[in-house]
Amino acid sequence: MNWAFRLGSVMGIPIRVHFTFLLLLAFFFFSEASRSGARNGLRSLAFIVLLFACVLLHELGHSAVARRFGVRITSITLYPFGGIAALTEIPREPAKEILIAIAGPLVNFGLAAALFVGAAFLRPGEHLGLASLTGAHLISGLFSANLLLGLFNLIPAYPMDGGRILRGILASRTDYLQATRWAARIGKVFAGVFVVVGLLIQDWWLPVLGLFLFMGATSEEQSTLLQASLEGLRVGDLMITDYLSLSPAETLTDALRRSFHTFQEDFPVIRDGIFLGVLTRARMLEALREEGRDQYVQSLAKGVNQWVSPADPVREALRRMQGERVGLLPVVEENRIVGIVTFSSILRGAALLAGGTRRD
Ligand SMILES: [Zn+2]
Repeated sequence: MNWAFRLGSVMGIPIRVHFTFLLLLAFFFFSEASRSGARNGLRSLAFIVLLFACVLLHELGHSAVARRFGVRITSITLYPFGGIAALTEIPREPAKEILIAIAGPLVNFGLAAALFVGAAFLRPGEHLGLASLTGAHLISGLFSANLLLGLFNLIPAYPMDGGRILRGILASRTDYLQATRWAARIGKVFAGVFVVVGLLIQDWWLPVLGLFLFMGATSEEQSTLLQASLEGLRVGDLMITDYLSLSPAETLTDALRRSFHTFQEDFPVIRDGIFLGVLTRARMLEALREEGRDQYVQSLAKGVNQWVSPADPVREALRRMQGERVGLLPVVEENRIVGIVTFSSILRGAALLAGGTRRD
């Protein structure tokens, strides 16, 4: 997503901030400043920044445990509704998934405990309550917020932390797919409840969260189904052997004219049996519209250095495509291109196979 900028990195993980988060900061500053002066505006700003530092620590908690299990974390992004740590792959072992999921809320409970003890030392006798979320005292506000964050994330609404713990528990009793389906269903029910409750108490935050949860549950369920149906499949099973390739010296007009004779959307660019890159139909049409027809395939193609062999698992092909941000890879055997594998051919294969093995 391009709407996020990089803030820095912690433990080698890039930390990104979504630009809408800045709107949130501005909103809190101005709404507080207009009510009770710039000084209070700054205090409320400081509170939000510290609160999100806690959210970041929560995500780092997930990341630290995930990394211990060998999972790579590509980034942590802060959104106005919270943080998201992008894990390359969640382990299919219930115990590990539960430990990764619970680490975040545990960080918040640890922070709450530390703030409680800190406040007791700094200001003995002061009351720490849930009442003052953006209250007069920064420490009591942060204490309550961490307690709430920890508890809220434990609600079993997949894909929230509590929902992942629930899936882990279910997966230790039934198979992974079934567990995901149930966790996603329960997550969607919670999403609906959040929307309705939010509308009833006229709180805009809950419906927005409910919507995100619903989309999250749907997409995670689908990607799990896809992953599961690809299990055991090799590139050789799904590769396309009858395909159209383009030459780098070909003009855009020629390439387009030839592309109309096939359903293919992505074309390998090949010269003398050597794979150079990928050119998509969409890119060709865009170039024709914006830059005219006097161009060569070479200048439009996206260079790609990856390839797969027929014996590679299909999941590996998907991983490499994601890494290169392309929808096509050449399949190479004994230094020869024997076919291509495309994102849509994988999806098609998976859909067929999932249709055949679906249980509900
Ligand atoms: Zn979490």
